[in-house]
Amino acid sequence: MARVAFIGLGNMGGGMAANLAAAGHDVRAFDLSQDALDKARAAGCTPVESASAAVEGAVAVITMLPAGRHVEAVYEESVFPVAGPDTLLIDCSTIDVATAKRVAASATDKGLVAVDAPVSGGIAAAAAGTLTFMVGGTAQGFARAEEFLAVMGKTVIHAGQNGAGQAAKICNNMLLGATMVATCEAFALAQKLGLDPQTFYDISSVSSGQSWSMTSYAPLPGVGPKSPADNGYQGGFATALMLKDLNLAVEAADQAGAKTPMGVRAAELYRQFADEGHAGMDFSAIIKMLANL
Ligand code: NAD
Repeated sequence: MARVAFIGLGNMGGGMAANLAAAGHDVRAFDLSQDALDKARAAGCTPVESASAAVEGAVAVITMLPAGRHVEAVYEESVFPVAGPDTLLIDCSTIDVATAKRVAASATDKGLVAVDAPVSGGIAAAAAGTLTFMVGGTAQGFARAEEFLAVMGKTVIHAGQNGAGQAAKICNNMLLGATMVATCEAFALAQKLGLDPQTFYDISSVSSGQSWSMTSYAPLPGVGPKSPADNGYQGGFATALMLKDLNLAVEAADQAGAKTPMGVRAAELYRQFADEGHAGMDFSAIIKMLANL
């Protein structure tokens, strides 16, 4: 089994590193938080005192950090100066496409292979090892990364060249944000027009208005399969994270000259909902704002 550096042991990284350790890998784990390091030790990882110490002698370096600036800083300060020529660099964080491409280009300049591999699936999927990985990089980089990603997820897809993993992630989540808003406003209108929410679900979930937001994640309690709405909108995918991904999508659309009016509107609405104090609630709770619940 391989020596793997894991940097960023938060809600997602903690579970992912634990799964690598459970599979027998020698996981050298680093985070700025002592609590995260203690949890990693309990999960079978070896906590180390710095990101550089984690990278020393590692066959692969996996990062799971909040945003592009954290990834770029860790790569420049701790990964590039220490990584051996055969070390594979895998960034699983959700970051902007431009930074993902820049970091990969720097790696290539240094003779290193890097891939972006953001995930779909939340904290529970990270802990259970059932994430979906969308990978951007060369065929060779993808083939090498797959061995590690398959331990942490159930699906690993090659999206294209460097940056394509991040592109897939933000396009998917822009679609999710927009369909959730549309689903919520459809429920709100249906109710105002006197339709029972369960009846509307029974019709729409098998009609042309259906989407994952409707059939798998209906935003009202007691309607459809069990979802965060049945748990007071706790757990699931936080509004703050949806807003982060929508902002990344809008920024990427600006840079690429793409028209994304629904994505822009969804970002505005999630910004308003977060500003009203609901950043920690599941993103389907936006129905409270749209339906005046
Ligand atoms: P988190 O805030 O729980 O964890 C991030 C961790 O990174 C923290 O423990 C923090 O201490 C650590 N960190 C920050 N800077 C560091 C540095 N310089 N060196 C070492 N450690 C550092 O966030 P999370 O929920 O685990 O999310 C991580 C990434 O995964 C984000 O990019 C997020 O958008 C993405 N993501 C999250 C979810 C989710 O449901 N939480 C789902 C999909 C994708």
